[in-house]
Amino acid sequence: MKQSSGSNGGGVVRKTDQETASDEGEAHWRTARASVPRSVLAPSAARDFVRANLCYDHASRALGTVTLAASEFATQAVLGGSGPIQISLECNQTTVTLSVRYRLSAAVSMHSRGLADELSSQIIEGISRVSGAETGSDGERRLWCTIPTGFISLATGPVRPDNPGQPGPR
Ligand SMILES: [Zn+2]
Repeated sequence: MKQSSGSNGGGVVRKTDQETASDEGEAHWRTARASVPRSVLAPSAARDFVRANLCYDHASRALGTVTLAASEFATQAVLGGSGPIQISLECNQTTVTLSVRYRLSAAVSMHSRGLADELSSQIIEGISRVSGAETGSDGERRLWCTIPTGFISLATGPVRPDNPGQPGPR
C-alpha cells in the first residue's frame, strides 16, 4: 500500500481538505467537486466530471491524464466502497490535484481490495507527481494524486484544448 507524503512535491500537496481556501493567492486557482452514485457507471461518471470541470488551460495539457486518474480512483471506490463517491478537482498553477473519497465497505475483504489497489496504484504512480491513500478512523477512504501540468502562463489567456467535447468554463 502506498502511503506517500508530499515530500517530493515541492510543497504543492495539501493534505487537509480546504474547501474554501483562498490563501493560495494565485489567479489560477479553482476547485470543483461532485458526488456520483456507486455503480458500474461511476468510472464513466468520474471521467465526465473531469471533462466538464477541468479548466481550458489544464485540459489542453493534461485532460487525458486527469481523466485516467479519475477513472482509476472511481473504479477502486466501486470495488471497495459503499455509498456515494465524492470527487474533487483542484487547479493550481502547475498541477491538478484529483481526489476521491468514499466510505469503505465492511463487506470487502482486505485481500481483494489490496489487489485492486496494487494495479491501480501503478497507473497512478506513473502519471502523477505525488499520490496517496488515507483511511480515516471513521472508515472514510481518500485517494488523491497531484498531476504535473507544466506552468500555465496567465498572460497568454485561455487555451482552448483540441477537444470538441469540452464544454465551456464555468
Ligand atoms: Zn486549471
